[in-house]
Amino acid sequence: MLSLLPWLCALAGAGIAWALRSRLMAERRALAAARRDLEELRHSRRTRLADEQTKQQAVFNSMVEGLLILDEHGRVQFANPTLGQLFQLPRDVRGLTLLEALRLHELQEVATRAVAEGRVTGFELHLPGANGRVVQVNAASVHDAEKTHAGTILVFHDLTRIKQLESVRKEFVANVSHELRTPLALIKGYVETLLDGAKDDPAVATRFLQTIEKHTDRLTFLIDDLLSISLLESGSIALNLQPVDLRELAGQVAGELEARALERGVRLANEIPEGLRVNADSDRLQQVLFNLADNAIKYGRQGGLVRLGGRRLEEGGIEGWVSDDGPGIPPDALERVFERFYRVDRARSRDQGGTGLGLSIVKHIIQSHGGEVRAESTPGSGATFFYTLTGVPGT
Ligand code: ADP
Repeated sequence: MLSLLPWLCALAGAGIAWALRSRLMAERRALAAARRDLEELRHSRRTRLADEQTKQQAVFNSMVEGLLILDEHGRVQFANPTLGQLFQLPRDVRGLTLLEALRLHELQEVATRAVAEGRVTGFELHLPGANGRVVQVNAASVHDAEKTHAGTILVFHDLTRIKQLESVRKEFVANVSHELRTPLALIKGYVETLLDGAKDDPAVATRFLQTIEKHTDRLTFLIDDLLSISLLESGSIALNLQPVDLRELAGQVAGELEARALERGVRLANEIPEGLRVNADSDRLQQVLFNLADNAIKYGRQGGLVRLGGRRLEEGGIEGWVSDDGPGIPPDALERVFERFYRVDRARSRDQGGTGLGLSIVKHIIQSHGGEVRAESTPGSGATFFYTLTGVPGT
């Protein structure tokens, strides 16, 4: 029995050692598994964070507004591509101060105020340079959980287009008021003179009343043209496109203008070839031909010739024109005549009952058909107005 004891002790010792080793190994395995889980967790967190940052970056990069983020020391942390375009930044500005990056003291003041006051809204900044860009800046200071200043966000909204439209609108209103006031003042003047006694002389009274009639007509034309322009510009008129026989339409316009042409001894020649058909809104195209032919009669040579022509273009489409043999248009005014209220000879236009809107209406109508207009002239030998339109296939 006693001789078995050392054997038993050795066996027990080996069993304990084996049990301890296998426990140790199990613990090691558990530790390794826990490490793997932790690593996976960290990895998935990193991936999620990277995903969120990618999404955020995509949002910032697609913004139409310029975005600039400054860190707590006022150094650029992020600038999106729109900001780069707005300020025409030649390089990466990250790490620079606001002043180093954009070189605008006013902007530095906005950022400083945003830090002091929390936010600055609606600050208008005129960017230096020839293109006269105007941007609106909104800035806000960002705070962390402990409410300490963590950075500044500046958002830049390009106002250039809005400002341009605003100035066009103001100019338009000023022009319209002027155009309305002029005939009204003349009418009032004649009425006062009539009331002061001119009415007692039938010949004078008739002459004055005819002048009043002329100016009221001008007011009516002006209102009609203003309505046309406003409809065309608002895009609220739908074109009723259909095949239109250009020669036939020009014939109708020539008929309408016959009396006016006769008055000035002008011959109207419809030289548009037969069968030339365009895809157009007939009423609007009639307005185009009317305005062009009416101008050719008004500004062309007394006793002259006004021709309405047209041809198929090799590259497709149709080109039409109206020409006269009058004094023509100076080269520097050839493009400007299509501007609203632009006149080469203001007094002449007024005298002829012009509104200064006829060619601008022509341009609008042709462009809304997808065509183009242009004027050519050799001063002293007349002017020709060309327009292009889509032809009707097979004609
Ligand atoms: P208006 O009502 O003054 O005729 P338009 O827009 O039709 O306005 O024309 C603008 C200006 O272009 C006219 O005032 C005139 O000075 C010039 N113009 C237009 N057509 C002709 C032409 N055929 N010959 C010479 N000048 C022209």
